[in-house]
Amino acid sequence: MATQELLQGKLLREFQTIQAMVEIYCRAHKHGDMSDCQACQEFLQYAHTRLDRCPYGQEKPTCNKCPVHCYKPHMKEKAREIMIFAGPKMLLPHPIMAIRHLLSGRGDIPGKPPLHQSNRHLRKQQEAKTE
Ligand SMILES: [Zn+2]
Repeated sequence: MATQELLQGKLLREFQTIQAMVEIYCRAHKHGDMSDCQACQEFLQYAHTRLDRCPYGQEKPTCNKCPVHCYKPHMKEKAREIMIFAGPKMLLPHPIMAIRHLLSGRGDIPGKPPLHQSNRHLRKQQEAKTE
């Protein structure tokens, strides 16, 4: 997926973790090949956009600690379903991702999001500079 290259650092790692979980979820639910699974691709695309626009940027807390609820209700429901299903199954195929995900859930609850810290904002700024 080409869009993946837009994210960096922590946001990219988080996206890769979500992607790995969706793969497990999609396969187990017999949706067929994930690259052809419209429902899961749509979810991934949505998750990607939310990460790109997360106002905390690289300081992003885990979603369940975040005071900004940026997911639409039905996408949030799907995210929860995927995490509950695939989270515990991550340890064997992706131990490092799984452990990092668990540890990142232990941080403090952040305050108000900073201004102009989203990946999207920084990327646009970078693009403007190189033009
Ligand atoms: Zn699927």
